[in-house]
Amino acid sequence: MDIDGEIANTRASLQAGEERSTDRSLADGRTLLVARRPLAGGGWVATFEDITERRRAEERMSHLAHYDTLTDLPNRSMFRERLDQAMAGDTPLAIFSLDLDRFKAVNDTWGHPAGDWLLKCVAERLRHSLRSDTDVVARLGGDEFAILQFNPKGATDAEQLAKRIVAVVSQPFRDKGRDMHVGISLGIALYPGDGKDADTLLKNADMALYSGKSEGRNVYRFFEPGMDALVRARLALETDLETALKRREFVLEFQPITNIASGKIVGAEALMRWNSPTRGLVAPDDFIAAAEDSGLIVPLGEWALKQACSVAAGWPPGMRIAVNVSAVQIRSADFARSVISALAVSGVPASRLELEITETVLMDESETVLKTLRQLRELGIRIALDDFGTGYSSLGYLRRFPVDKIKIDRSFIHDIDNKDTAAIVRTIIGLGAELGITVTAEGVETEAQLDILRKAGCVEAQGFLIGMPSKAADMARLLKTRAASRRA
Ligand code: C2E
Ligand code: CA
Ligand code: CA
Repeated sequence: MDIDGEIANTRASLQAGEERSTDRSLADGRTLLVARRPLAGGGWVATFEDITERRRAEERMSHLAHYDTLTDLPNRSMFRERLDQAMAGDTPLAIFSLDLDRFKAVNDTWGHPAGDWLLKCVAERLRHSLRSDTDVVARLGGDEFAILQFNPKGATDAEQLAKRIVAVVSQPFRDKGRDMHVGISLGIALYPGDGKDADTLLKNADMALYSGKSEGRNVYRFFEPGMDALVRARLALETDLETALKRREFVLEFQPITNIASGKIVGAEALMRWNSPTRGLVAPDDFIAAAEDSGLIVPLGEWALKQACSVAAGWPPGMRIAVNVSAVQIRSADFARSVISALAVSGVPASRLELEITETVLMDESETVLKTLRQLRELGIRIALDDFGTGYSSLGYLRRFPVDKIKIDRSFIHDIDNKDTAAIVRTIIGLGAELGITVTAEGVETEAQLDILRKAGCVEAQGFLIGMPSKAADMARLLKTRAASRRA
């Protein structure tokens, strides 16, 4: 306000007998409170008070109420405010709900200070991914973030932002020689199409996030009507699974594996099924992911190990038993102990047990997982790399961890008629021979496929041609007759 105006105001309020106070910001950044009080006998008193500290404290309070202390990003309430403001206008918006993948593993492995450091870095990368000053990225709590994007041109801008974010967050985070890997998943809701109010939009973005997560990590997904039904179905599945273990609804089937050269069965792989009273017989592909998400896979996998070993204890000596173990399971602190106890209780020697892991296990940045596997291997347990060839850099992982066996994914065997696929299969077999790693071909269904594999020097085969997965009693019978006919 200019001087004349100030004087006029002061005069007016003094004449009205009012008290008047104003803040003055000085050039050095300090704040003065100037109060003028009229006196009874006419005239007035002015007081000058330095309120710099008070104002700063107030600003700090307001900052604390609106920003997250760790990352300094807007917090949930600020995000809500900005969203409400934005919706008052007519501009289209994209609302992103974000959630880190594998963040818990970072916290568990390196402790909370490392987790905090990582969250700060993620916040920084998210901030840099935005292409407009008006867009808002907020931390809602834990490893959850949200983004408000203004004026996306249809879904394409939102999609580009999502892709950018997935790419930057999946780059490793390096600190003090540690290499931390997390990923990020995103759910996106568009305004006005996907909701007319903030609650619905946020809920729908969450829904999209959740349904994306159930199918894999490092994904983004747009909200679609009908998603809530899928999410409800998934939650119902998790609830049913919760009680299924107590009710002994899981069973193992066993599928034989043969040595191609000799034609002899060398062992079998345990494959889990869920015999649900309401759903019927459920295949592992339809429940393992849910069991991993809910954490049930830990006791469930422990049960499978115990059960498989106790069944294998009745097999002819030397027959191997292969058990699938999930990454989540190996990360749990008690994994090694549960393996050792399964062997001890059943009396099966370590050399007969094979643990089938996938690349995701070796992708785990933490040394703990590799250490656990190494210890188990020292006991004589064999480690097999399952679904070989389907991952990102299967070859790289062979260098990281020396496995005993590679199982070529069944998709390669299925397409082995294709000459490029055949070349890849031959290369994997050659590589195995070179490195002293047993190579097993999965999903062998025809004599023709087996023939190609035999000529290429593949060591073992598994698949419907060799034998279907079957009940424990049937497998025991098969192994005994084979062993008997061998003696005869
Ligand atoms: P996998 O480890 O690759 O297991 C082999 C899958 O291929 C089995 O499916 C088996 O039935 C199927 N299969 C075997 N031979 C053939 C063939 O000739 N042709 C075709 N098309 N398929 C064949 P299944 O039993 O449905 O298991 C699916 C996946 O579920 C397994 O893939 C494994 O990753 C997972 N899984 C199974 N049991 C367990 C378990 O106890 N724990 C964990 N964590 N995962 C399990
Ligand atoms: Ca397997
Ligand atoms: Ca496999």
